[in-house]
This record gives sequence, structure tokens and C-alpha cells, in this order.
Amino acid sequence: MMEDIIKKLKDKGCKITPQRRAVIQSLAKLAKFPTALELCNDIRQANPEIGLDTVYRNLNLLADMGVVNQINLPGKDTKVFELALGKHHHHLVCLGCGKANCLDYCPVDEQELQKAAGSKFEIVGHSLELYGYCQKCRTAK
Ligand SMILES: [Zn+2]
Ligand SMILES: [Zn+2]
Ligand SMILES: [Zn+2]
Repeated sequence: MMEDIIKKLKDKGCKITPQRRAVIQSLAKLAKFPTALELCNDIRQANPEIGLDTVYRNLNLLADMGVVNQINLPGKDTKVFELALGKHHHHLVCLGCGKANCLDYCPVDEQELQKAAGSKFEIVGHSLELYGYCQKCRTAK
């Protein structure tokens, strides 16, 4: 799957720098939804010269290229990341434990969105997190 992602980037004319490769590798290796800092710590074990700024820059670029999903956790000013494998989807984020979970599809109607935005604005993408409480946190309440 690593090679799929590299191919996708190449198709889009994106250079595969060693830093980018390291970020993708680390995302593939770590458990789901690491923060940039967690990724950075992992990457630095093999590449101590790579700093957090570089990791952020590359994560943003990979997200722009559509190969990384970025999930906003509420209230903590934190983002977590995952490789965008498979199709476009969204995430459930628990306000209790802060854990994210993948939805397996997109419940958004693109035509409705375009209607809401009006004819003068062309929508090229959207992002949406669903906030709530997971089952574990609901039983604990
Ligand atoms: Zn929870
Ligand atoms: Zn996901
Ligand atoms: Zn969607």
C-alpha cells in the first residue's frame, strides 16, 4: 500500500523526498491516528535530522495531495492523521476519550452542498468530523 501512495503522488507530479517517504512510512507503521508529534518522534528514531516543522509541512502537503486524512479533535487544538487508503470517508470523534473512528462512507450529498454554496462558488472538497461520545464513554457517564 506504501507503493500505491507513492505512485499516486508521482502521478500528481509530487516529488518523493526522503522526508515524505519517512512520513508515509511512519503513518503506515504507527497505530491509527497519530499526532504530528507522535509521528515526528517515530521518524526521528531513524532520521534524527527531521524536525517537527518538516513533519507538519509534509503532512499538510500530503493532505493537499489527498493521500493523508487530517482529523480535527475538538477542544485540544490537536490534529491526528491517517493514510487515505480506500475511498473518501469521515470520522467519528469522541469528546470523552478523544478517540477517532473511521466511518466507512461519506454521508454528505455533494449536490446539496453545491446548492448551499451557490452557483458562484465551486466546491472541490469538504471535510467533516462527527463529534459525540463512544460507547465506552457513554457507559462511564
Ligand atoms: Zn470515548
Ligand atoms: Zn479514516
Ligand atoms: Zn465526505
